[in-house]
Amino acid sequence: MQFIDLKTQYQRINSKVASKLMAVLDHGRYVMGPEISELETKLAEYTDTKHCIACSSGTDALLMPLMAWGLGPGDAVFTTPFTFISTAEVVSLIGATPVFVDIDEDTFNIDTEKLEKAIKRVNDEGNLHAKAIIPVDLFGLCADYKELERIETQYGLHVLEDAAQSFGAEQNGRKACNFGDAAATSFYPAKPLGCYGDGGAVFTNNDELADKFKSIRVHGMDGGNQYENVRIGINGRMDTFQAAVLLAKMEIFEEEVESRNRVAKYYSENIHSRVKTPFVPENNKSVWAQYSVLAKSAPDRDQLRHKLNENGIPTAVYYPKPLHLQKAFKKYGYKKGDFPVSESVSERIFSLPMHPYLKDEELAHIKITLENS
Ligand SMILES: *Cc1c(COP(=O)(O)O)cnc(C)c1O
Repeated sequence: MQFIDLKTQYQRINSKVASKLMAVLDHGRYVMGPEISELETKLAEYTDTKHCIACSSGTDALLMPLMAWGLGPGDAVFTTPFTFISTAEVVSLIGATPVFVDIDEDTFNIDTEKLEKAIKRVNDEGNLHAKAIIPVDLFGLCADYKELERIETQYGLHVLEDAAQSFGAEQNGRKACNFGDAAATSFYPAKPLGCYGDGGAVFTNNDELADKFKSIRVHGMDGGNQYENVRIGINGRMDTFQAAVLLAKMEIFEEEVESRNRVAKYYSENIHSRVKTPFVPENNKSVWAQYSVLAKSAPDRDQLRHKLNENGIPTAVYYPKPLHLQKAFKKYGYKKGDFPVSESVSERIFSLPMHPYLKDEELAHIKITLENS
């Protein structure tokens, strides 16, 4: 059994992928070939956003909006410590300060009440300027954007949706990547929509911001002129080959989202007596980047994972160490106990196999193994 099964998917689409890759070899435009804009148009349509700018990774997709807003030393950017390192890494990279806010125990996403308190605290203390929020749509479930958009307006902050795990998800009829001022997604192979290497995209409904992203993506170039540089940028382009792979995968993506939801539904209906299954708030559709459950305690998690492993069922832990306890962020002075929900969840959480090609027999095997653990 595979934790994420990219092989079965490849067998399904290999002729499509091959012909799209061959087309790139034939036209030879390996960098910014026609597949890039074709993909951008498709992704913008899919998410109902005005602009999509393909780029080299989800990390660069997070970095570009922070650069476009001119954030740097003295600026506070709010996010959670229960996420992949990139979310806060980009904040440090531009010299701004990540201000962590604990998560909601049910959704694993940012706790908006605690967020509002943290913004007020930063404003009162006056050492940092509150500038932006990076809500993470963790495991494929959108953060609470109704509240986040209210907070954004009330406090005059930028919102950058970290949609690295949520491309394909929905909230109140809006697709992920269409929230906040800008959104970043990742096409790392293990994400719900993955390419065959690194890739990402940034989305926005703001024309001016879209132009800045295009400029930053190619060394701060001015409009169409690559050798006029008007700002500091990066080499953030997506390879044409990756766009070709994504175009092939987009053809089956919607079906795959439905199949992920089939797997999640089975888990949620059949394993809740042994572990706490994920909560999906009303008017949300998760894309299930991960199906993550909570054991009762750290030893209980170890025992369950051991039993599953013995029975040929792979599991993984996202994330074993919250970011405020990572050595890389030591200079900000956080300590154990600062974010009790994130800490407790990181000790008890684990993820079950999740991909569109899990068979009914495999799911039944997982259920029975869990029941007998
Ligand atoms: C994967 C991921 C990223 C980074 O994406 P890359 O394409 O690997 O750079 C950022 N944030 C979250 C929440 C992620 O899961």
